[in-house]
Amino acid sequence: MSGSESRLRAIAAVNESKAVAEPFNFADDPTAELFGTNVFSKTVMQERLPKAVFKSLMKTIQEGQPLDATIADVVASAMKDWAIDKGATHYAHVFYPLTGSTAEKHDSLLSFTGEGKAVAEFTGKQLIQGEPDASSFPNGGLRQTFEARGYTAWDVTSSAYILENPNGTTLCIPTAFISWTGEALDKKTPVLRSMRAVNEQAHRILALFGNDVPGFISAECGAEQEYFLIDRNFYYSRPDILTANRTLFGAKPPKGQEFDDHYFGAIPQRVLAYMLDVERELIKLGIPVQTRHNEVAPGQFEIAPLFETANIATDHQQITMTVLSSMAKKYGMKCIMHEKPFAGINGSGKHVNWSIGAPGLGSLLKPGDTPHKNVQFLVFCAAIIRGVDKFAPLLRAVVASASNDHRLGANEAPPAIISMFLGDQLTDVFKQIKAEGTASSSLEKSTLTLGVDSLPPLPKDAGDRNRTSPFAFTGNRFEFRAVGSKQSVAGPLTALNTIAADSLDYVATKLEKAVAEGTNLTDAVATVLQEILEKHGRVIFNGDGYSDEWHAEAEKRGLPNLKTTVDALPALISPEVIEAFEKFNVLSERELHSRYEVYTEQYILALRVEANLVSKLGRTMIFPAAIRYQNELATTCANLKAVGYEFDTNTLDRVTALIKDLQDALDTLEIENEKEVEGEAMDHAKHYLNVIVPLMNAVREASDALENMVADDTWPLPTYQEMLFIK
Ligand code: ADP
Ligand code: MG
Repeated sequence: MSGSESRLRAIAAVNESKAVAEPFNFADDPTAELFGTNVFSKTVMQERLPKAVFKSLMKTIQEGQPLDATIADVVASAMKDWAIDKGATHYAHVFYPLTGSTAEKHDSLLSFTGEGKAVAEFTGKQLIQGEPDASSFPNGGLRQTFEARGYTAWDVTSSAYILENPNGTTLCIPTAFISWTGEALDKKTPVLRSMRAVNEQAHRILALFGNDVPGFISAECGAEQEYFLIDRNFYYSRPDILTANRTLFGAKPPKGQEFDDHYFGAIPQRVLAYMLDVERELIKLGIPVQTRHNEVAPGQFEIAPLFETANIATDHQQITMTVLSSMAKKYGMKCIMHEKPFAGINGSGKHVNWSIGAPGLGSLLKPGDTPHKNVQFLVFCAAIIRGVDKFAPLLRAVVASASNDHRLGANEAPPAIISMFLGDQLTDVFKQIKAEGTASSSLEKSTLTLGVDSLPPLPKDAGDRNRTSPFAFTGNRFEFRAVGSKQSVAGPLTALNTIAADSLDYVATKLEKAVAEGTNLTDAVATVLQEILEKHGRVIFNGDGYSDEWHAEAEKRGLPNLKTTVDALPALISPEVIEAFEKFNVLSERELHSRYEVYTEQYILALRVEANLVSKLGRTMIFPAAIRYQNELATTCANLKAVGYEFDTNTLDRVTALIKDLQDALDTLEIENEKEVEGEAMDHAKHYLNVIVPLMNAVREASDALENMVADDTWPLPTYQEMLFIK
């Protein structure tokens, strides 16, 4: 098979591909009626559970009261009957190990009696607790292979659901995953613990304002997911995407994204069909998907749900990624959620919209039209300012990965410097407070008139938006934009909740003390806010985060610029982080260390796989194609010379030089990749960052230059142009 055979076949397959799925009819099957049909929801529980049991369960779910284990058998039995009605044969405890993916262990809903009979059975114990082997998941030293015991524990606050498969369905139960010693081996447990901390501290602030509400004050999250779609035939012809989820080779296409003609463009038919199918599945699972659109890069798209409480949003985000991946196959495409699948083309992020909401009050981060009068809001907002500044390295660390390093700071995503955008109105209010202790005015909202009578006047927001800020205030929430597209939102949410709890605790303690000593609340607030702005106001930045001036300015302000994962991860085990996480019982020092170790190891593994791939593809695909073309050129030169022409060997010279570069870079890469590095995991990580990555880039540089010279019919890999534009 000649080099380009697989490419040609892929292109032909794309061209001939037909719709695979039966068309949906949303008129017969309205989305509103489908919503949540596969969820063991509050409504289902109310229908199927005895009143007392339902009430007790709601106390746990809505108010965070301890779970009454004696009701478990009744709940389990009702859940089983419901699941069997939905065609379930098995149940699965679903959990979220530190790999960032979803894990599930399936067990039959049948019990075999030993007398040749099988009966459907599901006990409270089976619902509450499972026991997968803990040693096979990354645990950063928390568990050795010989101490394998780990448990999954039912998370009552996240509904059980039915996952469909053409050949049957499974009852899925969201669970936390902990070791026999009680340490968290997963991503869910710290989210739940951090939500409890936010609840406690936020209540203290509300109480000070005489505004305390009964019920759970919850961190909330709406996560926007960006992803790429390419035809599956290209995917199978690109071993780099197949194994590493990104292209390790590939010259810049003649046309990239410079025309900005893809963003919000008409969604291609096949892609829209896929999106409708994905959304339908998510709707059945009770996931409130709301928006979809083309993103900036060709072949890039976005999906976003309505926000939900942090824990449920985290579970739903994980399901969304699973469905996006699995559904693509049905439409002959591959969904790529890597942060930077194509060099030179925008990467993908996951904007984590985050706020704190109180029952009946909505977001506590809502300033209203006159924020200067909304002191309670100002206290919450100032607490976040303090938290983001004090824990900036932590926020950088929780978005650190080998793949997200390609994005951060690359002038398409927020820089690695953590700063905060507040907009003109709030910045002005806080400026007044810093100077006077209080603020007496807020910049007003105005109206935009469009100069065309038939168009309505539009209310204009008090401040513009800023796309370059890693942490932007967007009206009633903050948007953490540095999160990577394939990351779980659990880590970022845990960090945000914990730093919020830390700051709310700090402010509440000061205010409570001042009030107890007889200071009036207004004066006490003025003092605390002034002090916070004095110390932490440096983190506020409304300008262009991509500019060089900002990098210089940030350095002057003393803001950390942790450029890579290697620079960022140590923040996870810094004294301030350990202190705060232990104080609010989110993660112990040991648990933080385990995460530091696991994420360092994942960084090394990701880069090792990439280095192996670069070497393999470089040797077995790129090099052979290059020498074939070189041979062709050399033969032509020799032949022409033989018949008396003076042939210019420029092209042959350049190709030969590039082949030499390719070979040399591959040789060095292989030597360095084999090298035993002394020291700890972090030393290995540094070796990968400082030595291996530049060598991989050198191989790529030679290869990409060759791609632009070698005869197209010998080039073995689908090109950027093909993958991004043939749909
Ligand atoms: P944009 O493109 O303006 O960022 P999107 O509609 O794509 O807007 O996404 C905004 C996300 O923010 C949605 O998931 C939305 O539900 C979420 N959101 C809105 N209000 C809040 C809030 N108070 N707390 C958390 N998330 C919120
Ligand atoms: Mg957004």
